Amino acid sequence: MPHVLANAPQVSLRTKTATTGCLYLSGGTAGAMTTSAIWGSMRPATTVLLALTLLAVLTGAALLAWGHRAPQWSIHAVVASGSVLIAAAVVLSHDNTAAMGVAAVFTLCAIGILYFFGRRQAQVHTAVQLTAVVASLAWRGIHPGVVGALVLVQLAVVVTVGRLVTRAADSVLDSLTGLPNRRGFDERLEQSAADAQRSGTRLGIALVDVDHFKAVNDRGGHAAGDALLQHLARTWVRLLPAQVQLSRHGGDEFSLVAPAHSAAELTLLCQRLREAAAPHSVSAGVAELDTAESCASLVRCADSALYVAKASGRARTRTAAPDDDALSGELAAALAAGSLSVVLQPIVQPTTRGLVGVEALARWKHPVRGWIPPGCFIPLAERTGQVAALGRFVLERACRDAAVLRAALGRDVVLTVNASGHQLTDRGFVDDVAAVLLRTGWPAAQLVVEVTESTVEIASSGALTTLAQLRELGVAVAIDDFGTGYSAFSHLDTLPADYLKLDAAFTAQITSSSRRAAMMVALLDLAEQLGLTVIAEGVETAEHANLLSLLGCPLAQGYHYARPSAVHDLVATLATARVPRPSPPVVDRLLDDSSAGR
Ligand code: C2E
Ligand code: MG
Ligand code: MG
Repeated sequence: MPHVLANAPQVSLRTKTATTGCLYLSGGTAGAMTTSAIWGSMRPATTVLLALTLLAVLTGAALLAWGHRAPQWSIHAVVASGSVLIAAAVVLSHDNTAAMGVAAVFTLCAIGILYFFGRRQAQVHTAVQLTAVVASLAWRGIHPGVVGALVLVQLAVVVTVGRLVTRAADSVLDSLTGLPNRRGFDERLEQSAADAQRSGTRLGIALVDVDHFKAVNDRGGHAAGDALLQHLARTWVRLLPAQVQLSRHGGDEFSLVAPAHSAAELTLLCQRLREAAAPHSVSAGVAELDTAESCASLVRCADSALYVAKASGRARTRTAAPDDDALSGELAAALAAGSLSVVLQPIVQPTTRGLVGVEALARWKHPVRGWIPPGCFIPLAERTGQVAALGRFVLERACRDAAVLRAALGRDVVLTVNASGHQLTDRGFVDDVAAVLLRTGWPAAQLVVEVTESTVEIASSGALTTLAQLRELGVAVAIDDFGTGYSAFSHLDTLPADYLKLDAAFTAQITSSSRRAAMMVALLDLAEQLGLTVIAEGVETAEHANLLSLLGCPLAQGYHYARPSAVHDLVATLATARVPRPSPPVVDRLLDDSSAGR
């Protein structure tokens, strides 16, 4: 069984076959070297021995070249036949010294066994191997004490390597269900995406979430919640084809990485999982590599599709919209008709929860498909040359909405707007921003343009010039999604920026260990030294919010404080919620920062 519930370390078939190939090559070569000691005394047994070592070398080379195409079960056959091969070589050895030398090669088999198989399978293979060692050496009449010593060494290797392998594997495993965790998911996704792009095959992913899981915990306590998650993991693993990996990201979130599956096929699979989960209801968001440009945006598409599934009544599967010509035309029409919308998500000061600013996020409600996630339509706009128009629309609408908010609050707020890499290399972008500011009257000093490091890196020097020009205009720059796969500390030095937005994935981990909290403290310190104001994104729990407040994180944003909403809803909520004002030093510093000569 390829799933981790069997406790097999998560090692790709390619790695398994490459390692086995190397072990065979070195085992065969070691056997040949031992045989070379009796080169002069050619006799039939020596010839067979040489043939066996040659066979081992050739098998090793074949595994290295073609092993990854072999079926998974063939690894069992190769490892088991390795034990038989060595036992035969021990029997055929010229003398007992050579036999002992050959028997030492068993150690290589022991390593392979622990590296590749789950506990039960490893026990069977180890038993076969030890029987082969003892039987072959006993047949030669080697003293039982010496045989015992060799077996002892083998067992020591088995235990030590086993522990090391389990520890390494544990870092990608979820301790509750034994499934791969978020890291295991990321690793498998990256590998599968690379394989799919190389071979031109499809790749689908799904994010699966148990509906109303909190109610299960509330009713039956955490033990009931844990039992449900374990039950679902066991049930779902049995239903999945071998190449589909089920992972648990934490809480009630599961995911599937499904090589060779289209979005439609994966939707059917999710349907089976949902049926198997009954009486509990489950929602799923599906995306296919086709619709996304990278693993990160693929996950965003699936995440947004899951959000849509939840928002449209739960207990259903939603697929991220495909990148087709029709959709691109519909996006153009929606832009021309001004039917896209903008929502604002508060950015607050964690200590007081006072609103300091808002991030503008684009929304598109398709007349037939419903809400299309930004993780899908923004890349579509980029690929179809519509992102400049979309950016202009969002900026203008955001400036007007922020002015409504400012008027309602009776004080200044900071407005942040996202820009994609394509906009940064567009020569007209800075002029567009200046024109919108002029038209709407929104002050440049209260505007922040958010860019991700990867977009700037891809767009290179042209993007850097644009950022510098924006700052000359008085507009501030934020590095968005810092702390994800692309993050590099060198960017903090080279990117002209004023704010550092910590990605939700980073924020989510700050309470997981004291080391994570220490990283946060160091990052806050570093940002302060560099004159960057940190905004922690994706704050979902009171625990995260309290820690951020305790650590003195200047600003934060996330569902815990407020979800993105239309400006009028936001104004209404703020009016009733009596949200406190931020303490003056932060606002002053923000406004000072954004107006200081950059
Ligand atoms: P982003 O700029 O990092 O925006 C934050 C995303 O996190 C938003 O997703 C927001 O709804 C979501 N979010 C907010 N609080 C939480 C939380 O507590 N937990 C979690 N899990 N998520 C939270 P959204 O609106 O789906 O936008 C996704 C991405 O699409 C944005 O990421 C941004 O990169 C892009 N985007 C959105 N609007 C625009 C736009 O007008 N122009 C451009 N170029 N990109 C945009
Ligand atoms: Mg952003
Ligand atoms: Mg972000």
